[in-house]
Amino acid sequence: MKPIESLVELDKPSHGQRRLRACHECDWVSALPRLHPGEVATCPRCQHVLVRRHYRPAQRSLALAISALIALFISVSFPFVSFTMKGIGQQIELQQTASSLLSFDQPLVAIAVALTIIILPALYLILVVWLQLTLLFSEPQQRHRQIARTLKHIHSWMMADVFIIGALVSLFKIAGLADVELGTAFWSYAAFAVLLLMTMRSIDDDWMWFAIAGEPRAPVSTQTGQPAAEQGLTGCPTCGLINELYTQGKQHCRRCGEGLHARAPKSIERTIALLLTATILYIPANLYPIMTTTAFGQPVDNTIMGGVIELIHHGSWPIAMVIFVASVLVPVAKLITLTWLCISVKKVKNSSQMARLKLYRITEFVGRWSMVDVFVVSILVALIHAGQLISVTPGPAALAFASVVIVTMLAAITFDSRLLWDESSSVKQPLRDERHD
Ligand SMILES: [Zn+2]
Ligand SMILES: [Zn+2]
Repeated sequence: MKPIESLVELDKPSHGQRRLRACHECDWVSALPRLHPGEVATCPRCQHVLVRRHYRPAQRSLALAISALIALFISVSFPFVSFTMKGIGQQIELQQTASSLLSFDQPLVAIAVALTIIILPALYLILVVWLQLTLLFSEPQQRHRQIARTLKHIHSWMMADVFIIGALVSLFKIAGLADVELGTAFWSYAAFAVLLLMTMRSIDDDWMWFAIAGEPRAPVSTQTGQPAAEQGLTGCPTCGLINELYTQGKQHCRRCGEGLHARAPKSIERTIALLLTATILYIPANLYPIMTTTAFGQPVDNTIMGGVIELIHHGSWPIAMVIFVASVLVPVAKLITLTWLCISVKKVKNSSQMARLKLYRITEFVGRWSMVDVFVVSILVALIHAGQLISVTPGPAALAFASVVIVTMLAAITFDSRLLWDESSSVKQPLRDERHD
């Protein structure tokens, strides 16, 4: 097993040079301080977290990831929730919240639900376990880099915590109609959601990349207290290492192999295209029913807003507010905010960068919570089957709305926040035009 002292070595100045980082949110180059376990290094310009140092990072995330996998295994092996209405009972398992949508011709929504609540979290945890175990007991190999990059890429797409809120909302919605009983899987999935968040937070990227591929030095000419792009440099979005940028050819990080750009290519154009797509999809998402409830042979279509109004009529203000905020306020605010940020990159110069960056961070953080209503539909459809006194079927708005959430999340990822800090709308050309290594 590798000694923990390697962590201390990590923050020692090597060859008389401190370890340098270019902030991925504002491009500012700074030197990392020596960190002790529990300490955090932030960017001096925008306070973005550059490094979060953990005590025994590999063992910590290993223990959390294994616990989370056990909780997930229990969640898919036992009943999730059951209800009884007028003597008729129905019991579902977690995976049925995705598979039931298949029988109503909603394969894309089924895939989105399965991926975000089971498949991607399971993949993430298995990769964490494998990566940390092999880093502790064997020499790093090329595939360690690929796996560590994959972890970074699937990070935003796991929604176990959002699903738990969706489950609570749907159970509240049917609580008046039937006797609802939470199964073992519900509690274990709630524990899983917490353990997954703790595992994600426990990953010390800085230590992990050091263990995989060491710490190649930043170019000797690198100056701190300046943007990286103006020095012909860029910070790797995945491992954080400072790399030189050349005028020609596709470039990859020296340490992790991630593609590098001074600024994400066509960031504004791509973000606007995604925002337009989301705006168009938002129309059918609101006009068409997200689900249809059939009670005693009488089908009633429920749109997103219709569902909110109905909850208010029943006096369920808190739940109405959850759905209104997640399904109406957040998507609309996100579309407006990102559009304004795209416009402001070209129009607003040298002012309010920090305020705009904070707005961007909020937008990025809240986006995934809009999936609540999609999860509510998936749970109700699975739980309340056709053929009984009451049945719920998914409507066309379910796919349109899930697409709005995914496309706006992609728009937030595509937007390069470093553009907010550039003095002009275009980045100065990299200084170097030949490769030195
Ligand atoms: Zn910064
Ligand atoms: Zn890298």
